[in-house]
Amino acid sequence: MQKENDKIATQLKNELKKNFPELESVYSNTDIFVFEEKVKLLCFHCAHYNEKWTCPPRIPNLNYEKIIKEDYRNALIVFVKMKIEDENFEEVRRMTTNVIHKSLLHLEKILYDSDIPTKISFIGGSCKLCKNGCALNKCRNPYQARIPLEATGCNLIESFKKVGIKIEFPVKNYLYRYGVILW
Ligand code: SF4
Repeated sequence: MQKENDKIATQLKNELKKNFPELESVYSNTDIFVFEEKVKLLCFHCAHYNEKWTCPPRIPNLNYEKIIKEDYRNALIVFVKMKIEDENFEEVRRMTTNVIHKSLLHLEKILYDSDIPTKISFIGGSCKLCKNGCALNKCRNPYQARIPLEATGCNLIESFKKVGIKIEFPVKNYLYRYGVILW
């Protein structure tokens, strides 16, 4: 079984290289993910709390730790680094989230076509698919919209440290975004 999952991970990595050469990826099992209530508390203090259909408190009240670590066993972490210039921070925020989002949906399609229909991905940063902000009454793109990994209570810093990815604050010259696809 592990051989099969290694093969799938290599296929996803190759797809990523071909279609999104600016992105990097790391394959891991899902034991690395660390969940903490305090991460959810930080969401409450976000300027955009209760604005997005895919962020707290609007996401389903599920046991994300169990889902991510037990229902799924394989994770491909996908990340991007983009330079922040004067005045372009908002644009870089949007672009980094959207490229991660787009690449993960692309990888989901590969898994779906490979008879893994239960695949799921979590993006980095809040969903920015709609240019003019989130819809008022209902998500406009429920099939494409995805939940940010941090919104599940996952501590990305502690989780990714385990696979050699170091996330540092404060954000200085570069903005990094991290997402994950699970199967
Ligand atoms: S797809 Fe649009 S409406 Fe749905 S969560 Fe994303 S930004 Fe909001």
